[in-house]
Amino acid sequence: MDQIKAVFNGKFDNLDNIRVSPLSRAYTFSDSIYEVIPFYKSEFIAFDEHINRLQKSALGINLQIDMKKISEEVHSLTLSSQLESGYVYYQVTRGQDIIRSHMYSDNIEVETFGYVVAHEFETKIIQVMLCKDSRWRRCDIKSTSLLGNVLNMNKARLENCDEVIMHNNDILTEAGASNLFFAKDKKVFTPSLDNNILPGITRSILITILRDQGIEVIEGCFNVFDLQKASSAWLTSSTKGIAPIKNIVNLEHSLDLEDSTFKKCKELFDDGFFNQK
Ligand code: PLP
Repeated sequence: MDQIKAVFNGKFDNLDNIRVSPLSRAYTFSDSIYEVIPFYKSEFIAFDEHINRLQKSALGINLQIDMKKISEEVHSLTLSSQLESGYVYYQVTRGQDIIRSHMYSDNIEVETFGYVVAHEFETKIIQVMLCKDSRWRRCDIKSTSLLGNVLNMNKARLENCDEVIMHNNDILTEAGASNLFFAKDKKVFTPSLDNNILPGITRSILITILRDQGIEVIEGCFNVFDLQKASSAWLTSSTKGIAPIKNIVNLEHSLDLEDSTFKKCKELFDDGFFNQK
């Protein structure tokens, strides 16, 4: 297998050669934020939106970051990889402690890490499980503190699921690594943004595309019973694109993969998402 191109603290190398201190706060506290930036046919998809969200996540955890340097590194990684389609994972960590301590020093130096891999943007039909959302209350920050997502998704994997749909006391939030949409009576519904949901870039692109084409998209507060009335449901993310849900294993309800509203949304999305400039 080809070596994975990576960059650590500004130094480009193969991923295998990178060594990180166990006192990196990414390791001890998940005191870090990240982005996954897709590119397709050698063009980034929504580059500025991803970079802006990284900046917002940094502000959310009181971290100063050099956006110009990060943007340049992300571009250099894709160029050096010579890949046509894939994504860059880029993480910014508060830095390395002298000794593990919740309270960080003011002089700590930010640690950056990125790598680039190939990715096929193909539609995958998925099975999901409904789970309680047990995450912290700032899921709008794209932090690497993802234990709630990890535990839920691995519980779902045991039931042959690819993803989860999470809820707080029956109020739908999002999936483990994607945002949730569902359709009913030719309208499209998605949980509105708040601290409990990551503002997905793909979510936002899809909403814009659909509204531009006259499809009604309602952002609001929805519960599990609303989902039980849906004709179709799907998840969105930068790497999944739109992933139609064939079944929710622990919910009595059937979803229609041939639903006309879903098919229209998917067609419009594929046209718009992969042809952005
Ligand atoms: N929600 C969560 C929890 C995620 O981890 C992700 C992506 O990783 C998304 C939503 C989708 O975000 P985006 O469309 O920006 O990839």
